[in-house]
Amino acid sequence: MNLLYEGKAKKIYGSDQADQVIIKFKDDTTAFNGLKKDTLDGKGKINLKFSRYFFNLLHSNGIRSHVVSFLDETTLRAKKVEIFPIELVVRNCAAGSICKRLGFKKGIKFDPPMVELFLKDDSLGDPLLCKAHLNYMDLIAEEDLLFIEKQALKINDILIGSLDSKGITLVDYKLEFGKAEDGEILLADEISPDNCRFWLKGTMESLDKDVYREDKGDLVQSYGRLLDILGI
Ligand code: UDP
Repeated sequence: MNLLYEGKAKKIYGSDQADQVIIKFKDDTTAFNGLKKDTLDGKGKINLKFSRYFFNLLHSNGIRSHVVSFLDETTLRAKKVEIFPIELVVRNCAAGSICKRLGFKKGIKFDPPMVELFLKDDSLGDPLLCKAHLNYMDLIAEEDLLFIEKQALKINDILIGSLDSKGITLVDYKLEFGKAEDGEILLADEISPDNCRFWLKGTMESLDKDVYREDKGDLVQSYGRLLDILGI
């Protein structure tokens, strides 16, 4: 296969269809903009399982994504999209960078949920974007931004609806969207404990990448526990 791009956790290959790509989930894991790095046996497979579960859940609730089909344990076929250089972070509770940046106490609830925008640029450390910045940067059309912000909140309702009943608190997560060749805006990237924070309900016990970021235990074991809880 023809490798088009290799990121920190995924490889993207060309496919037999000009408007589709093959995405392979790697076992590599990184944190702190690549400063902490490891290869964890089985992580790619596990994250693909989560992505399959969440994308299927979202598809059945009317959210369109780049996924075309799941091919094997570590690969999926996706529509080729041009990713907007913006990461959307949806927060239902305070954790991570918002506590460090603004002093929010970990665990306090944001109701309605907060949506933050970050510039997708590793060389700048993915900085926070304010709406004021957007007027001077050619990152995304205003109507496209409105659309993806709305989608992010719809996605939030769907995910919370499913996770809460299974005893999991969806704390926050990062989404990426892209535009397909036909102009349709699609949810892209992945949905897994690598880009979401999940706590056991009623506690702040992490079943997500914070286990790795904060050296709180074995990441593959924690992800496996979450798979069991969700019945995946
Ligand atoms: N996140 C991500 N990729 C990034 C930055 C954040 O997937 O490059 C996710 C992260 O896992 C968490 C949410 O976005 O679920 C909010 O992250 P935060 O801004 O708190 O930053 P962090 O504490 O992860 O540095």
